[in-house]
Amino acid sequence: MEPAPHPPARIVERLTQAQAHHRALDLVRWARARSPLLDHHWRDWHPDHDDWQALPVTDKAQLMSGFDDWVTDRAVKRADVQAFMADPRRAGCDYLGRYAVWSSSGTSGQPGIFLHDGAALATYGVLTTWRMQPQLLARCLWPGTLPTLAPARAALVAALDGHYAGISYWRRQLRLYPWLAGRSLELSVTDPIELTCERLTAFAPTFLASYPSMLVELAERQRRGRLHIRPSMLWAGGEPFSAAQRRYCEDTFGALAANDYGCSEALSIAIECRCGRLHLHDDWVRLEPVDADDRPVPAGRWSHSALLTNLANRVAPIVRYRLGDSVRLDTAPCACGNPHPTLQVQGRCDDVLQLDGGSAGMVTLSPLALTSALEEQAGVYRFQLVQTGPRAVELRLEASERVHAARARSVLLRYLRERGLPRVSVQASAEPPVVEASGKLRRVRLAATGAARAVRA
Ligand SMILES: [Zn+2]
Repeated sequence: MEPAPHPPARIVERLTQAQAHHRALDLVRWARARSPLLDHHWRDWHPDHDDWQALPVTDKAQLMSGFDDWVTDRAVKRADVQAFMADPRRAGCDYLGRYAVWSSSGTSGQPGIFLHDGAALATYGVLTTWRMQPQLLARCLWPGTLPTLAPARAALVAALDGHYAGISYWRRQLRLYPWLAGRSLELSVTDPIELTCERLTAFAPTFLASYPSMLVELAERQRRGRLHIRPSMLWAGGEPFSAAQRRYCEDTFGALAANDYGCSEALSIAIECRCGRLHLHDDWVRLEPVDADDRPVPAGRWSHSALLTNLANRVAPIVRYRLGDSVRLDTAPCACGNPHPTLQVQGRCDDVLQLDGGSAGMVTLSPLALTSALEEQAGVYRFQLVQTGPRAVELRLEASERVHAARARSVLLRYLRERGLPRVSVQASAEPPVVEASGKLRRVRLAATGAARAVRA
């Protein structure tokens, strides 16, 4: 049985901390009764207790290995979900006719599969629009969530060859609101950038959504006269969006940029306000900054990790789930007047590489595009690309993936060639990837000596 979606007004209204606490308790009791895995994991916690934040922590490896026992709908089977996902054309379609299926890109080394029910999807749709700053809301042409009938043209540049949250949610909205389909364009981050620029110029989007590093790359092309578009709104997601990146993109395109922080486990965790601060949806998402031993980290200090609880979704409960991002809750209220707490995020932070393209000048490469190319075309996940010089990249692979080294190098060389970088060398290193002290693997990074500046700095 699936819970009925909440009316939009109920999603927008801000709950008190006590009400949000009860919402969390409801989710925990639901999950305890229907998820054998969580029932066992929480066996020492009594349903009459109300200290849900004392529950043992969960993580991706545990939930993925016990997938069939984790989900709360017994009709859901991992083997069936994987068969459903084997066809990338199904991205945006509903599994069993009722669940969105999103996969994570495996930034932490292991791909994840996450199901979302109708109530959760309705909640994400409302949170990502109605909690946006008003001047952006007025320009927002995100398909389906606003009754916009203006001649909007929405373009998405993202990883398309998989059931990633971005493309899946986008296609789901287009499927629900078919009149928007003729006004939208999807482009792959792995396409040659010149082709992407040509198609965007021809399409003339009024709304352009992508990863921050890709928006920066497109802005560079626009400044060089290789791209000619005038979107009124940009949407940046999937990576941290620095103030410098925002200024560069907004100035270049004459647009306003929206930014939110989310993941495959919860589409929208926080949304940016006009002061440039990310406001947590703390009545729908609980985020606990913790140290390396999962102990609470107070506001004002960077955490080692963060425990995520998604209060909107019940089919695959995310409760005190180790997200891996380092976050810092702010202590001062925001001048915009929004009472939701604000935070900063530095998780999943790869470097943006800049390589010497000879007469074409320095060429910026999006880390997400690089990692998508290697994942999708070479089938490697635990790798590290290190820029060691203006025309030199080193590829490091985990021992288990070194058998694919030649193919990965070939994919990389082709990718660089298509980006106007035929003279950049790729050296396959015998060294394993260097893992950060936080335990995270930054898959695209500059050498410690600093071979080039990082745009995100
Ligand atoms: Zn604010």
